[in-house]
Amino acid sequence: MVTRAQLEAFSYGSERLKLIDQSRGIRNPRQLAATLSILSQPEGPYDDAETEDGLLRYAYRDGDPDGGDNRKLRRVAELGLPLVLLQGIAPGVFVPTFPVYVVADNPVGRFVEIALDENLRFLAGSAPTADTREYAERLTKLRLHQPVFRARVLMAYERACAICRLRHVDLLDAAHILSDAEGGQPVVPNGLSLCKIHHAAYDRGILGVRPDFVVEVRRDVLVEVDGPMLKHGIQDVHGWTLELPRRVVDRPDRDLLEQRWRTFTRP
Ligand SMILES: [Zn+2]
Repeated sequence: MVTRAQLEAFSYGSERLKLIDQSRGIRNPRQLAATLSILSQPEGPYDDAETEDGLLRYAYRDGDPDGGDNRKLRRVAELGLPLVLLQGIAPGVFVPTFPVYVVADNPVGRFVEIALDENLRFLAGSAPTADTREYAERLTKLRLHQPVFRARVLMAYERACAICRLRHVDLLDAAHILSDAEGGQPVVPNGLSLCKIHHAAYDRGILGVRPDFVVEVRRDVLVEVDGPMLKHGIQDVHGWTLELPRRVVDRPDRDLLEQRWRTFTRP
């Protein structure tokens, strides 16, 4: 994730080139012929939505479709240029995705459609098949939903492992309590900020988290004899309580923990 300050401090060569507009959801630098970045705000006033072909629909700005910001947005499609998609996840915090491509311009509906990678960009003109739909769906998860989920979960837990408090962001993941396949949603109450080792241990059933937020290590692992990683990294955390997010709404959902706990304790 990046902050507004970082996006504003960007420079190209010796020239300062802000990657985000001060107040608008689109960045059209004076010296460029086309749009550089667009901002997608899930709760914003503009109606951007994912289409069933796996494209992202981005609404024109108010006013003349050939004027102002809209002209440069539509120029991106004509020129075949890439642009940056910024997803706002909190005030002044964004998850960037780039490059993305404008593949269709609909002046009647007043929107453009955006492909999230090169493959979809070239597939966009042809009739979608079951395979391309599936690909698009996977891509949307991978490039849009997962990075946002990770950023939101890490932010809620103040960038620390909920079990061992490790604060090395490169070593942190957003773990799902209930997986995608089990119907788990990419939302913070279905997430836990865990370091790589605790994430893997949680996913492999080496440790579990009770609905009252207490960590338990699997019995056979608890009595195993091995080196310091097993001892300090795994066995020692038995009985610890999760370090929870400050905001109550961000805390793990007890019903989800309960469901997951039942899988862990299943003989
Ligand atoms: Zn950890």
